[in-house]
Amino acid sequence: MQSLYDFNYEQIQQLALDYGWKKFRGHQIFQWLYRKRVFQIDEMSDLSLDTREKLKESFIINPCKIVDKQVSSDGTVKYLFELSDGAYVESVLMIYDYGKSICVSSQVGCNMGCDFCASGLLKKRRDLTSGEMVAQVLSVQKELDEKNERISHIVVMGTGEPFDNYENVMNFAATVNHDRGLGIGGRHITISTCGIVPKIYAFAQAHTQYNLAISLHAPNNELRNQLMPVNKAYPLEVLMEAVRYYTTLNNRRLTFEYILLRGVNDSDEHAAQLAKLIHGLNAYVNLIPYNEVDEHGYRSVDVQSAMKFYDKLMKRNIRVTIRKEHGGDIDAACGQLRAKKEKQRME
Ligand code: SAH
Repeated sequence: MQSLYDFNYEQIQQLALDYGWKKFRGHQIFQWLYRKRVFQIDEMSDLSLDTREKLKESFIINPCKIVDKQVSSDGTVKYLFELSDGAYVESVLMIYDYGKSICVSSQVGCNMGCDFCASGLLKKRRDLTSGEMVAQVLSVQKELDEKNERISHIVVMGTGEPFDNYENVMNFAATVNHDRGLGIGGRHITISTCGIVPKIYAFAQAHTQYNLAISLHAPNNELRNQLMPVNKAYPLEVLMEAVRYYTTLNNRRLTFEYILLRGVNDSDEHAAQLAKLIHGLNAYVNLIPYNEVDEHGYRSVDVQSAMKFYDKLMKRNIRVTIRKEHGGDIDAACGQLRAKKEKQRME
């Protein structure tokens, strides 16, 4: 059965028309899903019994169920969801002073094969539907509703490569962004890619308000080839040209994510190369503490080395921030909880 979360506002109105109902029915259904946030079609009390029965023949609302939850001492909550086919995906809720941000997964597993990442430990099994991404947000929002709290920000930075599932991710963003539903502002939605260049062009041409983040992690092709296989398909010069196109066309600032890996990409020389690479771009660098993954040998830098790297970039007039670590005491690295659960399931 398909989830009603698969439909954005316009599509749900069309669905109503297809049933021979008024367009307004679609609007009502959207309100039930995103304003009242019901999980049962039967709860849509201002729809006729007949309408509800018709919907129930083909649709369900939430295709995910929460099967595990880890709460960190800093308030970070990691959710493990089971989808209708038994697959597991994760989301993480993080508390910031500016609001609550949820990190959603876009695929079951990932094929990008980044050498330091826990997600790639399990190869991609399939793309998530847009409804399964919406469901991650709504399941968590429903829990927050009990405390009168609200998710204000979304980052598509969980397991998976969003630009390897472009259409569904864009549909998901349109659904949660819609002002007749959750109304999460476009500038509060961030999509992070490892650098699938053709989709960066498509994203630029879509002219949305969503933020773009690029996982860079290395300032030269030799090192980036080692860390991120995607660089062999789209090397830095090709990536940077796409990025320049995006910033010029949209007049938007973008973020480069850079995990500091001890002894790998954290030298003065790397900082100088990085500054040179992004010099003059409307961008800033987000330095990320590495969540160590048992299966990989990489280590995070210490605070002093991170600060040193930060200073080197600042001195070269690069805008830079250091990301605060969340959920250090739980399995917060992308894919860690899921990988562990899958392992238990196989035992
Ligand atoms: N595939 C997309 C989005 C998912 S990964 C992308 O590559 O951007 C989200 C971010 O988390 C990426 O910057 C990724 O490189 C980073 N990341 C992966 N494993 C990590 C780890 N163990 N510790 C910290 N960041 C990690």
